[in-house]
Amino acid sequence: MDTNDNITPTEKRMRLFNVNEPIELPIEEFEKSWWPLVTNIWTQYNSYKFVNGDSWKIYVCRLAKHRESSTRQEGISIDKRRQTSARPSDLCNAKIKITWLMSSEVVQIERYKDSPDHTHPMQDIDRIKRPQVVRDLVEQEARKNYPSPAIVSAVKEYGADNLSLGSTVRELKRKEVTNIKHKVRGAMETNLVGSDNIESDIFEAKSHLEDQGYQVNHFHVSSHSTQGLVFVHPAQLTKLRNHGWLTLVDSTHKTNKYDWRLFTLYIRDSYGCWDVGAHFFVSREDGDTVAEAIKIVRSNCRHWMPRYVLMDQSNIEANAFKKAFPGLQAGEQECETIFCTVHTMRTWMRRIYEKTVRDKMVMAMHKTTKIGCERLVAEAINQSSIPDIQSYIQRNYQKNTQQWALWARQCSPLLLQTTSTNPLESYHSELKKRTSPTHGLIGTVYILITVTHKYKIKILLIDIYFYRCCTQNY
Ligand SMILES: [Zn+2]
Repeated sequence: MDTNDNITPTEKRMRLFNVNEPIELPIEEFEKSWWPLVTNIWTQYNSYKFVNGDSWKIYVCRLAKHRESSTRQEGISIDKRRQTSARPSDLCNAKIKITWLMSSEVVQIERYKDSPDHTHPMQDIDRIKRPQVVRDLVEQEARKNYPSPAIVSAVKEYGADNLSLGSTVRELKRKEVTNIKHKVRGAMETNLVGSDNIESDIFEAKSHLEDQGYQVNHFHVSSHSTQGLVFVHPAQLTKLRNHGWLTLVDSTHKTNKYDWRLFTLYIRDSYGCWDVGAHFFVSREDGDTVAEAIKIVRSNCRHWMPRYVLMDQSNIEANAFKKAFPGLQAGEQECETIFCTVHTMRTWMRRIYEKTVRDKMVMAMHKTTKIGCERLVAEAINQSSIPDIQSYIQRNYQKNTQQWALWARQCSPLLLQTTSTNPLESYHSELKKRTSPTHGLIGTVYILITVTHKYKIKILLIDIYFYRCCTQNY
């Protein structure tokens, strides 16, 4: 048998398309580098197995129209069938016979009886379905979880250059890639779903985090029957210590099947880049449980002394920080909780639906003196003709202007620059693109570690890009 090493994939395909002369190949070579090239052309028609292990199969062209479907063994979807039946019936009747001879470990491929040539070019089939070799390439890329369009172009390029499969990969559709991707990723998803048992899920998440160098604390608050998981990387602790003067905090839900809330502490480093300071999960978002988690972060990072904590308007989180950082009464630096202006104004749109009153409150928010701010709040209350709105403002905004109004932030350019939790919100939304309410905690932390790393690089690149744009103008 002559060596077939120097035959290109295109030549192999041609020889297996119209089989003009019988081919004999070692079984392994046939199954590895010949058959995967033409699985889209041939569908099985008939087969037979001998007692000694030898067997043969007869294949018919995919464009042949079977009268009965009993021999249709390869699953052709209804869609595909509809496409083929739009063609003239009995369009192509080409058949081949493949024989496996087990004792000599060879495969013989020949034209079946006096089967005719195909009545159409190979491209007609390539347009409908991709051969196994292309599907394998797609699966290989899909495992790396690249976006579908990137996979399409990578496979097209590789298929055309290295396998001279130009004609078959050219027709590769993004939808096909997405389908294959779902199948491949589905298998990987089971790892992210984790154990059915919450205790072993916690254990697995904890071990994975520790393998990645994280410090992990699992805690219980027995009076509330709640629990949580604090996890911080040493590099994050350094950042928290050095840049925690202003700390952003926010929580996000639906990242795991227990709906444990995920909290992130976020800081801005000396390069002006946002970065994670610490994370924790809590089984329920109540003041004591959140406070316990913050206390653990604090004990892991003794020099973390937030002067300001910026958050969406939330009494639970504000009280939790008050418990963990009691401030002057414990002989420490005061820790003030301040509210995100964007979030506050969004709440006002809903609750203070009298526009003139709301405008007054927005003016109060931006007033630079305390006395001026308080006067505007009083005016807003007087102006309102709806008792509900009046009491809403009195109850929530009259006595705590330092939490939501900017007069209290005039001391620091950083506070005036950073008035919203948006940077943290966009980090969380990046995270939520990948996590799912069906994942276990193991899945959430697995994705979180990857996303945190990638997101940091993305932010950095955006910063460098803007820096270049700015400096090029000078
Ligand atoms: Zn044909």
